[in-house]
Amino acid sequence: MVLFVSSKIGQGENKKGRLVIISGPSGSGKTTICKQLMENSRIRRSISYTTRGRREGEKEGIDYHFIEKSEFEKLINENKLAEHAEYCGSLYGTPIEPIKEAIENGKIFILAIDVMGALQIMKKIPEVTSIFIMPPDDETLRQRLRERLTDSDVDIHKRLELANEELKYSKHYDFCVVNDQLDDTVKKIRGILNLS
Ligand code: 5GP
Repeated sequence: MVLFVSSKIGQGENKKGRLVIISGPSGSGKTTICKQLMENSRIRRSISYTTRGRREGEKEGIDYHFIEKSEFEKLINENKLAEHAEYCGSLYGTPIEPIKEAIENGKIFILAIDVMGALQIMKKIPEVTSIFIMPPDDETLRQRLRERLTDSDVDIHKRLELANEELKYSKHYDFCVVNDQLDDTVKKIRGILNLS
């Protein structure tokens, strides 16, 4: 995939499009962080495809494009995904076209994806800026997952196990931010992205 994105952020503000990955374990607060970042009009977020069932309150085309496995496989075969990965038994993937469009239009385009997908993008697009969101500690992560109450107990257990694996990959990212206080975290990320 050939994409012309600006070099890593931190070298001065410019109006070229940029690609940013935000990863971190389920419950690390990625989604909330992304929502706050999107208050800036230059920021857009990728809407992934997933075969996961829709949770209460989630909307088609806003949270995800919810599709069947056969449709997902078709997207892979037609090379329409920039990356894809399996997470807790469901498939997730990033469509290529919106990335191209956002970069061409000078947007800062955020992919909130898991570590396996992030590694694929880092390999294909080395100019990407990658940020890993760390939960402050195990107990906070467990509590955040429980409070969400949208996943079954089994799923929460699986996600906690996966979190420990995912943390091992944090060293591959350009930046690591501990999400202790949401406002501070968002401020730090705005700083990394040179946003006011
Ligand atoms: P959830 O089921 O909680 O919405 O997402 C599970 C995990 O999949 C999260 O870590 C989320 O960031 C990740 N994810 C969401 N969309 C994508 C995607 O398009 N590709 C990959 N690789 N991971 C994704």
